[in-house]
Amino acid sequence: MNLRKTIFFDLDNCLYPKSYQIHDMMADRIREYFSDKLGIPAEEAERLRDVYYRHYGIAIRGLVLHHKIDAVDYDQRVDQSLPLETVIKPDVELRNMLMRLRSRYRLWVFTNAYKVHAQRVLKLLGVDDCFEGLTYCDYNTESIVAKPMPQMFERVMVEAGVLSKDECLFVDDSYGNINGAKNFGWPVCVHLVDRDDPLPEPMAGTHVIRDIHEFEGLVKSLESAAGCGKSANTTSENAIASGGDCISTVGQASSGVAANRTTTAGVNTGVSEKTVSARC
Ligand SMILES: [Mg+2]
Repeated sequence: MNLRKTIFFDLDNCLYPKSYQIHDMMADRIREYFSDKLGIPAEEAERLRDVYYRHYGIAIRGLVLHHKIDAVDYDQRVDQSLPLETVIKPDVELRNMLMRLRSRYRLWVFTNAYKVHAQRVLKLLGVDDCFEGLTYCDYNTESIVAKPMPQMFERVMVEAGVLSKDECLFVDDSYGNINGAKNFGWPVCVHLVDRDDPLPEPMAGTHVIRDIHEFEGLVKSLESAAGCGKSANTTSENAIASGGDCISTVGQASSGVAANRTTTAGVNTGVSEKTVSARC
């Protein structure tokens, strides 16, 4: 039996920064796709994209449900047409962080993208061999299931072979996804809010980071706060021995504490705007 806890990582605008502007490229292509396929003006296409995105978590679900659009064709015309090679470069710092975390946790990619896009991004980042598995949005089905639907959280636990919600840590840049995970019952839900964006009020999950490279520091602080050790090094050793067993307790018992610790540059700005997700 595997005693280590599992960390579920979102992909877009999470493992790479929002400043790559891939979201903007995606949004342009989605708008064009809506407009072409439905024969509607660009403004109406944008409105519809936004409506479906907000209602279903991803726009493609609305297209398939209401307009019988072929999701695989959509993926080829939108995600697969993105010039990712010109934007995403290998991230050695990210790779090193993931390899260190791998000694204590199981790492799993959990995305609303289709697998072709996910595998492409992971390879370009140079981290495709850092994860035990990948759960993606299956576009080959009439009723697409995606985050933040509870069925998607149930699905990723089954695919990753995780039996208890207490064994799950999650990081995502989407307010809706993090809120959904928290409501689903995952104890540690880390909202990645880009430095250029205001912190949402109320906060979506249990903790906030501003950059994926801060994630390991947050994990160490959770381990320390849970009494796993007195320093980062001893914390790591004890966490290995305990399977990282302390961490979900911290997430449940002291929600928001670590968030304040990790966002000292901008704790609670009082701004009510919520961060928009990377995936359209
Ligand atoms: Mg994302």
